[in-house]
Amino acid sequence: MNTLESLPPLRDVIATHGLAARKSLGQNFLLDLNLTAKIARTAGVLSDADVLEIGPGPGGLTRSLLAEGARRVVAVERDRRCMPALAEIAQACPGRLEVIYADALQFDPREHLSPPVKVTANLPYNVGTHLLTRWLSPPEWPPFWQSLTLMFQREVAERIVAAPGSKSYGRLSILSGWRSQARLVMDIPARAFTPQPKVNSAVVHIEALPAPRFPAEAKALEKVVASAFRHRRKMLRSSLKSLAPDIEDKLNMADIKPTDRPETVDVERFCALSELLDKG
Ligand code: SAM
Repeated sequence: MNTLESLPPLRDVIATHGLAARKSLGQNFLLDLNLTAKIARTAGVLSDADVLEIGPGPGGLTRSLLAEGARRVVAVERDRRCMPALAEIAQACPGRLEVIYADALQFDPREHLSPPVKVTANLPYNVGTHLLTRWLSPPEWPPFWQSLTLMFQREVAERIVAAPGSKSYGRLSILSGWRSQARLVMDIPARAFTPQPKVNSAVVHIEALPAPRFPAEAKALEKVVASAFRHRRKMLRSSLKSLAPDIEDKLNMADIKPTDRPETVDVERFCALSELLDKG
């Protein structure tokens, strides 16, 4: 029987199974198992956790998650061509890898997982941000996941971890800063991928806090933040005026100057404003 160590190099796996990268699926593969091992380690101790991996592709990161001792890995992939390669990995680790052929945007993996759950993914940019927003936005907290370890274009990673006042600060920073702790943990140069993309990437590690830092309703906060950042250069009294006739009073009550621009307002004051708007 194969073991993880005896599986062929990823280049051979790609050749054997005809996994030429498809642009339409955002396929840029990581073939260096030393690098995928480093990424797996940034997800923390895995031996007591189920890992949800989205987009395993030929299975480089999947192998590393298992080699680093993950209790179980549930891997969701929408390219059917990858199934035989992933089945070989599952055979090498009996009972520890479940592969699901599905579009992660249409599929709810929760019934396949037992807590604690750590999520890892190296996804195309648009799918990654869509899922991140979904994972950060449930009405109830804590969420089904304990941590998210995700690869993004470097510029998106900067937006997730940005502090108020920086030019990257915006919706993603507020969404992640409200109920979780996000850190940029590793830079990955474009040349590490096959084929090589145009831009560099970075890994972000996000830990869910046990409770939100500040009281707010997820939907109400999202609404005010979306309106505030739709026009970054506008003063808040102007960009938020459609949300309440007395918006200037509400801004003052939340300790925000009506002439402020959104990138100067921290998460606490956005939460206070959303509570004031939500509760009338
Ligand atoms: N994890 C592998 C690696 O690091 O080499 C592959 C990464 S590649 C950037 C993205 C992977 O996500 C591809 O295998 C692609 O088929 C898969 N993918 C793209 N969109 C997806 C979706 N909506 N649901 C599940 N998998 C998806």
